[in-house]
Amino acid sequence: MAFMNGKANGTANGTPSQPQNSAPAPSTQTPIVETIDLWRVYRLGDLEIPALRGLNLTIGVGELIALKGRSGSGKTTLLNCLGGLDKPTKGQIRISGEEIGNWNENKLTKWRRHQLGFIFQSLGLLPALSAYENVELMLRMIGVRGQERHKRTIECLDMVGLTKWMDHRPYEMSGGQQQRVAVARALANRPRLILADEPTGELDSKTGSEMMNLFRSVVRENNVTMLMATHDNAVDDHVDKVLHLRDGRVVTKEEFNAEAEPEAELAEATA
Ligand code: ADP
Ligand code: MG
Repeated sequence: MAFMNGKANGTANGTPSQPQNSAPAPSTQTPIVETIDLWRVYRLGDLEIPALRGLNLTIGVGELIALKGRSGSGKTTLLNCLGGLDKPTKGQIRISGEEIGNWNENKLTKWRRHQLGFIFQSLGLLPALSAYENVELMLRMIGVRGQERHKRTIECLDMVGLTKWMDHRPYEMSGGQQQRVAVARALANRPRLILADEPTGELDSKTGSEMMNLFRSVVRENNVTMLMATHDNAVDDHVDKVLHLRDGRVVTKEEFNAEAEPEAELAEATA
């Protein structure tokens, strides 16, 4: 289940190459993502809505990370900022040590097209296109041609176990299969970083767990890094690290859990 271009060693992307057999050592490598005092304040007329409030995080190369938080805690806003789809109001985002606020539109677009995979909450599959065509379109957009495009499309559908379903359109597939098409499409450009917004949200627990196993092998075998927003507790066992988000900030697990049971606290206080 690995990309075929030998990218796992990372030399083509400017990351230090590592000896084939050594375990990755994220702590000594420049983090792939780092945010420093990140703020995103939405304005609605006179109203200011701070979705991110001084968020700090560090993500090492090759990590599979769950971003957990209640609805409204800022998960989608963060992913959009990291993917260059939205601009923070204040603070820094560093990708492999480079501050992306200093990048021009051209560089940002290049990075988004060639190094980033995005799995949207809504999936965003085109209903009139087959699974094959949905994946292939992504490669057309980044200018991959002919046989190479065909080869990569098949490779990605194979990685998610959908070879037999490639001629089917989204509405002819189950929710889990549609989700896998979205994963295949996110893998098509052989990204270094995958951002996923609640990718297991609509799935039953068995399918969700299969999806997590898929993510795990994709991350392990391709040296990809993945950050996935979720509020599914079942993912905890599948990931390297859980980041807890609350009111637009990363908090400790204890702080996060303290918020989760306000009713219990109330009951205790009034007992
Ligand atoms: P999550 O993905 O964790 O549910 P969001 O990032 O979508 O959280 O939202 C964080 C906060 O920002 C919420 O209070 C939400 O209402 C607000 N918000 C998100 N997008 C917008 C927007 N485009 N305009 C105004 N407020 C927004
Ligand atoms: Mg969201």
